[in-house]
Amino acid sequence: MRETRGTNIEVKKNNRNHIFRYLCAQTQTVSNPEIASALSMSLPTVTANTREFIEQGLVRETGELASTGGRRAKALRVAAETGLALGLDITKNHIGLALADLTGSCLAYERIHFPFAHTEDYYRRAGQELEAFFDRCQSRQTELSRSRILGLGISFPGIVDLTMQEITYSHVLGLHAIPFAEVTRYFPYPCQLLNDANAGAYAAGMHAKMPERFFYLSLSNTVGGAVFHHGTLVQGSSFRCGEAGHMTIHPGGRKCYCGKLGCLDAYCAAGILSDAAGGSLEQFFEYLDAGDVKMTALWEVYTSDLAMAVNNIHMILDCDVMLGGYVGSRIGAHIEQVREKAAGRNTFSEDGGYIRACSGGNRTAAMGAALGIIETFLEKI
Ligand SMILES: [Zn+2]
Repeated sequence: MRETRGTNIEVKKNNRNHIFRYLCAQTQTVSNPEIASALSMSLPTVTANTREFIEQGLVRETGELASTGGRRAKALRVAAETGLALGLDITKNHIGLALADLTGSCLAYERIHFPFAHTEDYYRRAGQELEAFFDRCQSRQTELSRSRILGLGISFPGIVDLTMQEITYSHVLGLHAIPFAEVTRYFPYPCQLLNDANAGAYAAGMHAKMPERFFYLSLSNTVGGAVFHHGTLVQGSSFRCGEAGHMTIHPGGRKCYCGKLGCLDAYCAAGILSDAAGGSLEQFFEYLDAGDVKMTALWEVYTSDLAMAVNNIHMILDCDVMLGGYVGSRIGAHIEQVREKAAGRNTFSEDGGYIRACSGGNRTAAMGAALGIIETFLEKI
């Protein structure tokens, strides 16, 4: 009897969760009958749940929908601002700040020059920047309340071990074995830490138009990656799943920062391009657009190496590969060269249509970190 009861509770919980997630995903108001139809649930089940959500302030009635005969159905919409999440993207020279609501929408994003140092002063000041950022959000949208902040997601460019609760390693920030608590104690919110490529993949994966499984290749100061699979990130036994930056693409080749020779990172980190254009990736792509001979030659070599790596990833996983990070978010129409070269390497005569560019820009990691907080909340609904 106990087992049956447990199962019933589980079914009720799942129904409730599905209904709320459905409401969060809608851009327009919906009615109880529409929800029941979309989720193949009975109308009384849906109505009982939405009534509870309304009582809890999580859903609002916003009038009535046009009648299709009989009683007019109530128009429902999730009260998106009743749950907010902050995202903080820590990189070597900047911090990215994002604010997301329950629907996963980005309410605001800012990027500030803020060189990293693993010091008390740095984290205290980062905390102050975060509060000032929220103040600015509030001044634009007065309905936003600090008491509605569910937590803070922090993206780090390094290996983030969720079992050990520590940042195992970050070359770019010069960190080794830093317990989460050394970072999180400076922020007055429940905190979740995740790797920057994982955060990027998460932000992309929560987008309705993305496939349920894809590889996210982050091309920033370092090269990283992540596997997104049915709503979650595949972490691996050492939280290093997707570390594509250290795949060997040229045996005995250039020295990588890890000390090995020929890693992808030594060929496809964003600095390979930006260093040739005075440190600015935007400038590199402007020169490339203008037909600059030197930049065109550099892009030829870069895309050949990138296409080799992308094709290798695709051969293993047989899924879309999204180019993200600094290069992926600026690549624009130049992605065609990567597609052509990857298609040229493909044994099965596929075109390169499986290669996509990330559309989120710099905000991707900060938003992904914030969305992790929203997801934790939704799981408990
Ligand atoms: Zn390496």
